[in-house]
Amino acid sequence: MPALILKPGREKSLLRRHPWIFSGAVMQVDEDPGPGGTLDIISSNGDFLARGFYSPHSQIRARVWTFDNKPIDRDFFRNRIRSSIAARKSLLVTGQTDSLRLIHAESDYLPGLIVDRYADTLVMQCLTTGVEFWREPIVELLLEETGLEKLYERSDADVRELEGLTPHFGALRGTISDPRIGIQEQGLKFLVNIATGHKTGFYLDQRNNRQRVREMAHGREVLDCFTYTGGFTVNALAGGAKSVLAVDSSSDALALANENVALNGFSTDQTDFHEGDVFQVLRKLRDGARSFDMIILDPPKFATTASQAERAARGYKDINLLAFKLLRPEGILVTCSCSGGVDAALFQKIVAGAALDAGVDAQIIEHLSQAADHPIALTFPEGLYLKGLVCRKIT
Ligand code: SAH
Repeated sequence: MPALILKPGREKSLLRRHPWIFSGAVMQVDEDPGPGGTLDIISSNGDFLARGFYSPHSQIRARVWTFDNKPIDRDFFRNRIRSSIAARKSLLVTGQTDSLRLIHAESDYLPGLIVDRYADTLVMQCLTTGVEFWREPIVELLLEETGLEKLYERSDADVRELEGLTPHFGALRGTISDPRIGIQEQGLKFLVNIATGHKTGFYLDQRNNRQRVREMAHGREVLDCFTYTGGFTVNALAGGAKSVLAVDSSSDALALANENVALNGFSTDQTDFHEGDVFQVLRKLRDGARSFDMIILDPPKFATTASQAERAARGYKDINLLAFKLLRPEGILVTCSCSGGVDAALFQKIVAGAALDAGVDAQIIEHLSQAADHPIALTFPEGLYLKGLVCRKIT
């Protein structure tokens, strides 16, 4: 059996069941199994610690499939896939929600495998050598276990490069004549472009937070920054918002957002779509003395790692400060961060600093996170990436 032997004292993270082995912890690899091949992970004393897969080109040199010495075969993947799908059963509600994340990589004990279901189509992302190695059996098992027939691959994320993998995308099973799939999320309709959309097409992780916006939007003038395809905008309108100004720098995203508003039967007169850079648009709105009753900030990732946190913090502070200024008293700020490098405590500190510098008194009335189909394995804290605050401006 191929084996990866750790340097003395480097077994601690494995004993805590963290699934990553960094190159610096590796003493030697015996019987090289090649990229994605299975190997045992052994301490310097010769104790078995875990069984995982090899990524010779990555700084994360191996990832764990299992801490038992079970065989890694088709049955292993069937059990993991089945258990992840079963855990999501309660989230699929006929006539309400037909789209969700079925497999959330490390947090579902399948490092590098993401599978989202959009109505009757599965979209898969293979981000590691191990998932790439087992791709064909995984595809077959996904279709068997869900009973669905269409599967599209979106393995075009940059992180594949770190694993020495090239991009791979397109329909793998079934005929997908139109990449725009009609989905339902909590009774609202959205078009999702699985070929060109971000991630696998839609930000499913924001489902609960969109629902909260819907519950709080009644009668409010809303500013939805970084609207993408209108997830929050449509929910604000569904909740009875008086108007929504939706801002994004991508004209394609805004075009789809516009369609999504119309698809739900809302008048596009109530919604203003503005193509522009949020950092500049917020300044223009401030200079024009505009004000809002609710502002949503859901920017893209500003920092992947803690080392980029400082730059990210400046970005978050800037937009949150401007948002606090644009809010009316009693206004609601829904502010999010999906940067892995900025944790919830730091994010709260940044938002507090923004309110202080804006000269505003505000309270946190709710903490937000990612939806239940994006779980966080307790042994993998990196799985928590989305955090948000709902703040009420007092004066
Ligand atoms: N709120 C969305 C997801 C936002 S994703 C939802 O619920 O679905 C981030 C969006 O920010 C993308 O659509 C991207 O086009 C946009 N974006 C990135 N940088 C921007 C900038 N500086 N100004 C405006 N939009 C930006």
